[in-house]
Amino acid sequence: MYTISTEEEKKILYFLKSRGCCLRCCLRFIGYRTSDCYCKPFEFAAQIDSFDMKDHISSEETSCIVCLGVLQDKTQEKVVIKVIEEVKKKGYDCTTFTCALTVPVSVKLREHILYAHMSKELDIHKSVIDALRTRLQNIKDIWKSFMIPKLEQAMKKSADLLTPSPFLIEIFLTYANDEVIFKELMNKHKEGNNKQKKRKCNDNIFSRKNIETLLIETTDEQLVQHFTISQIVSKMFVSVDNILCSHSSIFIGGCYNKFSRKLSQTPWFINGEKKVDTSVQDLLCNPIAETMKAESIKFLSSGREDVDVRNIYGGRPFAVELLNPRMTNITNELLRHLAANINQLTKQVQITSGLKVLSRLDLKKLKEGENVKTKFYRALCVCQSANGDSLPQLENLNELKNIKIIQKTPVRVLHRRPLNPRMRIIYEMRVRWAKPHEVKKLLQISVESTNMFFILDVKTQAGTYVKEFVHGDFGRTKPSLCDLLNTEVDIVALDVTGINLQWP
Ligand SMILES: [Zn+2]
Repeated sequence: MYTISTEEEKKILYFLKSRGCCLRCCLRFIGYRTSDCYCKPFEFAAQIDSFDMKDHISSEETSCIVCLGVLQDKTQEKVVIKVIEEVKKKGYDCTTFTCALTVPVSVKLREHILYAHMSKELDIHKSVIDALRTRLQNIKDIWKSFMIPKLEQAMKKSADLLTPSPFLIEIFLTYANDEVIFKELMNKHKEGNNKQKKRKCNDNIFSRKNIETLLIETTDEQLVQHFTISQIVSKMFVSVDNILCSHSSIFIGGCYNKFSRKLSQTPWFINGEKKVDTSVQDLLCNPIAETMKAESIKFLSSGREDVDVRNIYGGRPFAVELLNPRMTNITNELLRHLAANINQLTKQVQITSGLKVLSRLDLKKLKEGENVKTKFYRALCVCQSANGDSLPQLENLNELKNIKIIQKTPVRVLHRRPLNPRMRIIYEMRVRWAKPHEVKKLLQISVESTNMFFILDVKTQAGTYVKEFVHGDFGRTKPSLCDLLNTEVDIVALDVTGINLQWP
């Protein structure tokens, strides 16, 4: 590696400064890496040459020919103010952050033009110039080296440098005349290449990628020919175009009971119009999303129950994904309070477990659990043809174990997802005649005669259509309870009583 002498460094520094480079750009062209020299560039430069500090400082008043002000103090102040404003306004409480910077596209082009002029005009050995090319420090890295400490201090948050923080601040710096040089170079390039192959249309679009391609096709000599330094002088500084804050998703999970036979799991929309007042999703997730100040939510659950099916006892595992939450300091105390609040707001659903912040691994369990778990149901069934003389022998069913049934897609969901017939297992059943008070309780209405009602407790494989297993669905489920009892059976109420999944 060629080492550059102090004398040469001075020459380079002087050259770049006289052409309109800011001090930090000069230092990164020479190849300095320590964040020290970028945090206090004036003090640092004073050690290299005998320039007057005042001279350095006054040169910062105009916009840098290369970075357009990205690395200059004037822009820094604006960035810090705007970032603080935005973070405060949105109320992000995350104690760490990661920063991303977008700079004007033409910076790259400007770096190359400066190099081209430097190699032509500067009176130092070619090997020094070549060495310089490999030493140029990336503008974003340099920006971060002195800006991150400033932002840390101003926001009272620490930057995560090793593992990216879930809280991302994106800073967009733009320059009004960013395209001008590119277009000019593109035109000159076309004139020179007239006879050669035609460029693709897309190649003319102003983009980072096309600038890179164009630079590969252009020599230093051509760059010097096409552009004088005064042609690329910038008259203004970059502006802080936008600050975007976002926090990665947080997942919270628990188990819920559903006590209503008139509640759908998710909101029901037709042509954008909400068709039902509320849903399991609304009742569970809205209070959580509000507390965490999330932008939006996604409701995840291990299966779902029909509108008219309750889910009692153990409860169904669910999780809610909070997108871009601003409140992220979640204590157990807060979760307890949230669960109690949800349970107080409605009687239609209740959280049966505690709430818990979930990891990605937990979510995998929820997804996998959908297929491997077993489920328990209680159904109130009715024997339409039963009379006192010929009641079916229910007890026989209790002996049966692991009955394999084949289910064609039920008529009621056929329009939604027609599937191939599938095999499911009914592991166990307990069947007994219902007591009048049980009928009343399960149906939530009173009926005149209760002696033909019976209760079926069943343990099934996940994904079994239980309603169809009872009534047979016009022969689409075989065998059904009708087949097993050899009589007409219908189902009048269904409850999910257990889902075999350790959760959350
Ligand atoms: Zn600069």
